[in-house]
Amino acid sequence: MIYRPTKAYVSLPALSHNLKLIKKLSPQSKVMAVIKANGYGHGICRVAQQLSEADGFAVTSIEEALVLRQKGYLHRIVLLEGLFSASEIPVVIQNRLDLVLHSQHQLEWLLDYPFDTTLNVWIKIDTGMHRLGFHPDAVESVVQQLLNKSSAFQIHFISHFASADEQDGFSRDFTLAQIDCFNDSTETWPVPKSLANSAGILHYPASHYDWVRPGILLYGCGNPTGSQHNFKPVMRLESQILSLKWIPKGEFVGYGNAWQAPKDTYVGVVAIGYADGYPRHAKEGTPVLVNGVRVRMVGRVSMDMITVDLTPMVNQVKVGDRVVLWGEEALTADEVAKWCGTISYELLTGVTSRVPLIEV
Ligand code: PLP
Repeated sequence: MIYRPTKAYVSLPALSHNLKLIKKLSPQSKVMAVIKANGYGHGICRVAQQLSEADGFAVTSIEEALVLRQKGYLHRIVLLEGLFSASEIPVVIQNRLDLVLHSQHQLEWLLDYPFDTTLNVWIKIDTGMHRLGFHPDAVESVVQQLLNKSSAFQIHFISHFASADEQDGFSRDFTLAQIDCFNDSTETWPVPKSLANSAGILHYPASHYDWVRPGILLYGCGNPTGSQHNFKPVMRLESQILSLKWIPKGEFVGYGNAWQAPKDTYVGVVAIGYADGYPRHAKEGTPVLVNGVRVRMVGRVSMDMITVDLTPMVNQVKVGDRVVLWGEEALTADEVAKWCGTISYELLTGVTSRVPLIEV
């Protein structure tokens, strides 16, 4: 029995729908569904189950990969950060995991290990993001060292976009330069390649290659969301009105007396706060849907509650009424994220464990 009304609904049909749209957008590519961070906060097992038609999964840690193997998934599973220590190699082999190889120290661990079985290695190339990956000039030598050591290594290439989701001229040029760099540094080898994240899938068909790696788009978010393609939000965060009261003009509401009623105001208290993952930095005016009507948040976000101005709908609201914080077409996580100075990724992955995830 769940008593508290604060819940995150996860639409399984929306996940399948979004995967289908991605396959249509990149028909020549295999799909590596990025389900790290507990399936972007939606629950890694349910997401894997619903996306079982993807060709592979990408996760951050061996822990996440083992959860999937224990559930019986036989898909390719790529460890996006690769090895943290040489001692992980036997676990990787035993569980048939794919490794991203991004740094010299990892290469040395692989070269020192006595491989007698194949290993899928994704050589990461730093095409401009300057986070993980080998310099493009080093790629040839990395490949040669691996091939000289053992025919067990199945080589793949991978890189990551820094700003494919930004539409300004500088970001577009930067992204196109990353694609050029990836082409130049990998063209000698006819092996599988992967570059596109969600924004690459939407905006840069030349980046699709053999494998696309959608994350946020699978969950129906991203900026821009590709709404012209009809992606559907997967997570809807909901709660209820917990209390209602008139606040006389001039009185304050909430911690720090941060909001003062400019006129007599009908204030609703909603049972959700930062301990649920609703961002504490949400600004005054952040939109919330009460019975489907857009209203404004006022005052500070507390641990368990927020307050909203219900004056425009005073006769149409009562305790227990439904409140949507994000995840409807009328109020996307991306819009809320902007009000909070963040991105939808952080909102989705930040919903805390006390919020039940309910499949719909
Ligand atoms: N590929 C890599 C290496 C990533 O780190 C991520 C996410 O951070 C993705 C793909 C998916 O990105 P997005 O969620 O923007 O599609």
